[in-house]
Amino acid sequence: MTNPQPLGGNQMPRFGGIATFMRLPGNTSPADLDVAVVGVPFDLGTSNRPGARFGPRDIRSESVLLRPYNMATRAAPFDSLRIDDTGDVATNAFNLADSVARIEAHYDELLAHDLIPVSIGGDHTIALPILRAVAKKHGPVGMVHVDAHTDINDTMFGEKITHGTPFRRAVEENLLDGNRVVQIGMRGTGYAADDFDWSREQGFRVVQIEECWHRTLEPLMEEVRIKVGNGPVYLSFDIDGLDPSFAPGTGTPEVAGLTVPQALEIIRGCRGLDLVGCDLVEVAPIYDTSGATSLTAANLLYEMLCVLPGVEFRDGSGS
Ligand code: MN
Ligand code: MN
Repeated sequence: MTNPQPLGGNQMPRFGGIATFMRLPGNTSPADLDVAVVGVPFDLGTSNRPGARFGPRDIRSESVLLRPYNMATRAAPFDSLRIDDTGDVATNAFNLADSVARIEAHYDELLAHDLIPVSIGGDHTIALPILRAVAKKHGPVGMVHVDAHTDINDTMFGEKITHGTPFRRAVEENLLDGNRVVQIGMRGTGYAADDFDWSREQGFRVVQIEECWHRTLEPLMEEVRIKVGNGPVYLSFDIDGLDPSFAPGTGTPEVAGLTVPQALEIIRGCRGLDLVGCDLVEVAPIYDTSGATSLTAANLLYEMLCVLPGVEFRDGSGS
C-alpha cells in the first residue's frame, strides 16, 4: 500500500483539481492514516472581527503551491507517514455549544485510530474540544502555544467558552500539564497589569514578545524542549502571533509580533517532541485580499507535518 501523496504540478496544474490540503487525495480512511489534516470551520467564539470560518477552505486553496520535500530541513513527511486530508467537522453555524460538542465527538472518532490530528481553524475556541478529546486518549498534555494572547480569560461577556478562554478551561478540566506549557508571542493591551500572571501561576512559561524581538528563537526552543519534556505535547499556533504585516487576515491583530522566520524556528524547534496534535487557528482570509495570511498558514501547517514523530529526513536521521 503506497502512502497518500500530494498531487504533483506535472500531473494537474496547481490551479486545477479539488483543493484538499496540499492536493492530497482526500479519500483515505482514518483507520489507514498516521496523520489526519482536519478542517474546523467555526468562528462563533470570536470577540472582534469574525471570518475564521473561512480559514480551512482558503488555507487549502493557498496550499496548492506546496511541494512534498522540505528543502531546509530535508524532511520527507509523505514518504514516512500516511497523511491525508479527512475533510471538515460539520459545525453548527447557529450554536456555539453544539459546535463545541460536535468538534469533540469528531475528534473522539478520529482518535479511536492511532493517528495525529493536524487541525485547520477556525477560531481558537476549537482548541478546547480538541484538547478534551486528546486528553481522553493521552492524559494531560504539555503545550507549545504561539499567540499574541494567552487565551486564559475566565469569561468574556459572561461566557465561559470563547476564543479567549480555551486554556483557562483546559487547565480547570485537567487537560493540560501546566508545568509543561509554554506560551510564546504575548503582547498588546490588556484589562489589568497582571493579565499574564494567571498563566505563570499555573506553571506556564510565558514568553512575551520583547523576548523575541530582533533575535533568532533557536536558543528559546532549546529551553522549550526541556520545559515540555518527553511526554505528549500539543502545538497550538494562533496566526495572530505573527506580526499583522505578515498576517493581516485575522480577527484580533496586535502590532509588533513574530516574524515568519521566527515562526519557522518555533515549529522546526519542536522536532523531537512527542507531538500528539497540532492546530493553526484564527485565519480570517476576508481581511487579506493578497492571500498572504492563508499562504503563510498553509506553510506553517506543512512545517508541522515535517516535525511529527516518525518523519524521516533525507539526511538519514530519524525524528
Ligand atoms: Mn488565540
Ligand atoms: Mn490571538
